[in-house]
Amino acid sequence: MVKRALPRTDRTDPAGPAGLTNRVVALPEALTALARLAANVRWSWHRPAVEVFRRLDGSLWERSAHNPVRMLALIDPVRLAVAAADAGFVAEVNRQADELAAYLARPIRSDVPAVGYFSAEFGITECLQIYSGGLGILAGDHLKAASDRSLPITGVSLLYREGYFRQRLTEDGRQQELYEDAQLEVLPIHRACDGHGRPVSITVAFPGRIVTARVWTVAVGQVSLQLLDTGDPENEPDDRWIAQHLYGGDIETRLRQEIILGIGGYRALEALGVACSRFHMNEGHSAFLALEHVRRFVERDGLDFAAARDRAARDLVFTTHTPVAAGHDYFPPELLLSYLGEYPAILGITPDEFLGLGRRNPHDKLEPFCMTVLALRLASRANGVSRLHGEVSRAMWQDVFPTSATTPIGHVTNGVHYPTFVSDDLAALFDRWLGAGWRTTPEDPEVWARVASIPDEELWRIKGRRRERLVAFARDTIHHQHARRDATPAELAQVTDVLDPRALTIGFARRFATYKRGALLLSDPARLARLLSNPARPVQVLVAGKAHPRDEGGKDVIRQVAAFAADPLLRRRLVFLEDYDTAVARQLVQGCDVWLNTPRRPHEACGTSGMKAMVNGSLNLSTLDGWWDEAWIDRDPTATPFGWAIAGRRFRDEDRQDIQDANALYRLLETSVVRAFYDRSDDVPRTWVAMMKSALATLAPVFTAHRMVDQYVAEYYQPAAPPPAATAPVAIPRSSRR
Ligand SMILES: *Cc1c(COP(=O)(O)O)cnc(C)c1O
Repeated sequence: MVKRALPRTDRTDPAGPAGLTNRVVALPEALTALARLAANVRWSWHRPAVEVFRRLDGSLWERSAHNPVRMLALIDPVRLAVAAADAGFVAEVNRQADELAAYLARPIRSDVPAVGYFSAEFGITECLQIYSGGLGILAGDHLKAASDRSLPITGVSLLYREGYFRQRLTEDGRQQELYEDAQLEVLPIHRACDGHGRPVSITVAFPGRIVTARVWTVAVGQVSLQLLDTGDPENEPDDRWIAQHLYGGDIETRLRQEIILGIGGYRALEALGVACSRFHMNEGHSAFLALEHVRRFVERDGLDFAAARDRAARDLVFTTHTPVAAGHDYFPPELLLSYLGEYPAILGITPDEFLGLGRRNPHDKLEPFCMTVLALRLASRANGVSRLHGEVSRAMWQDVFPTSATTPIGHVTNGVHYPTFVSDDLAALFDRWLGAGWRTTPEDPEVWARVASIPDEELWRIKGRRRERLVAFARDTIHHQHARRDATPAELAQVTDVLDPRALTIGFARRFATYKRGALLLSDPARLARLLSNPARPVQVLVAGKAHPRDEGGKDVIRQVAAFAADPLLRRRLVFLEDYDTAVARQLVQGCDVWLNTPRRPHEACGTSGMKAMVNGSLNLSTLDGWWDEAWIDRDPTATPFGWAIAGRRFRDEDRQDIQDANALYRLLETSVVRAFYDRSDDVPRTWVAMMKSALATLAPVFTAHRMVDQYVAEYYQPAAPPPAATAPVAIPRSSRR
């Protein structure tokens, strides 16, 4: 996993080379299809295509950070010539190119309205560093499932030049943040062109100047993602770096980014000739698009503000993603007006009425402007991302709808895109025993009911193989981590014996936001040490995750974990893997036996890593929050359990809750989890495998991105959809409120 950095492009020219196409070495005639395969990121969920590139040059595939476009820019021509002379390889390249062409030729569904899907981040593949965590992965999975379903969806986001940071830890566990230039010419993107083949740019007025954003396209199977890029040399130097970092910069940078995303993105779709009749705001960051949509009905159709707002609302869908107050954007009114001061006059309302669109109490002149409130006020359909989060959101935002008997926020529980995350080994097993349905109709319970027929030994053997792969990957990663810190040869030699490929393996990987309680498992060190160092029934823990650069609390937790991982008695059983990204995530969810999640209820809106683990046959051990709360409530208590709930009394006091939850967690591990894992007959843990099968049969048909996308189509995108159901709000702890 060494990532060799290419020379950085000159900072004074963030535009990089102005070429419209990727930099690819001249391909031999027989291998021209490679460029087509590389250019569509369908490979990020179609493993046979990745195998083509790995076969071509496995080590370069790793060094190119799993980016086939970069690989084709760097590859040795001799290597290419040898490959071109290999008839078997050429046939496989052409087979994969034909398969891609057939996938792309499926008719787009005409009974679904065209949707513009806006999100500040998209997590599609590790080489496109335009995501930071769950929100982005969710958006990426939404596009992938929409492509599989041939839906008319277009994604919209920003092209961050340095994306989110790469994480390194110092020897004493301090997080360091490194930024790498994205190098556009070797990314799987191309300049977006209009119907006449002209590259598309859009403009947005900022105070005293006009900012230009160029549009780039990522081909995501049958759909596309449009990325706005302000690196145009015509822009003032300051404006070229608006989208330098995802979630970085000060409040004004954030405002500029959100104006480019919402308003610029809306204009980009128009300039591209993509006529959308639905606009989906994935979180509040893009909510300015709603203003632009209202504006269209005022300017084009001559409607007054009230009529234009009603008309626009029909097309607008909003998904809120967090019950944590800090997760919602607020802007000072003066700052907002300095950028969007022309909007009140254009819309035919007063500046106070305009600001009121983003205030819980529209008449409170001191209240900052909230993007979530703006989205809730202007969209006709809004939802949270799990059943519990729907309830919590209704309670959180009920005062935005004072005259309404119910709060019009429904829920669509998130899902994950299985073909992206299921290991090759398990995918082959599923293909054999479940048929192709697990990829194409994963929402069908009949498909997963067939899991019962898989022999225990086969399922268990595959889990064992993935655990071995994970241990090898972890050793390799830790070796590099130590080598970077100038470890001595003796220290490096020690790395070879960390972890045990046969031990019960627990994974904990997520952003180190404080509510996720990354240190809960460490809260009683002696009790944890007893679990980890039991010679007969060893337990090992792999931890990964980044803390936001300004989140000192999160960084402290990482330091605590790192201190454990450095303890001579525990270092073989507890490791921290740096730089959590989709590549690390895949290894972990595929290889772990238990996926641990400890959010403080009800702060985890949904959580999706546990779903990735579940579909890879890992068992979830989690507090009752987000998706797990829902899975647990809906379970059949008489059936074989599919995991464990860290449950018990609920306290208002967070410290007491932490103590009780930690206790419940240790007790489950000591009494139930470890025993089930090591209780073998013919070397197979029968009870454990039965639980794996129960999880797949019960949960896999529900927590898939395909079900999620179908639900958005039926309940939120289709014209005749009823308004989302709403029930009475529930009480939520004060700490969730602002
Ligand atoms: C799935 C995923 C997440 C989100 O996981 P949560 O359980 O929602 O915290 C974050 N980062 C990466 C890299 C992922 O793959």
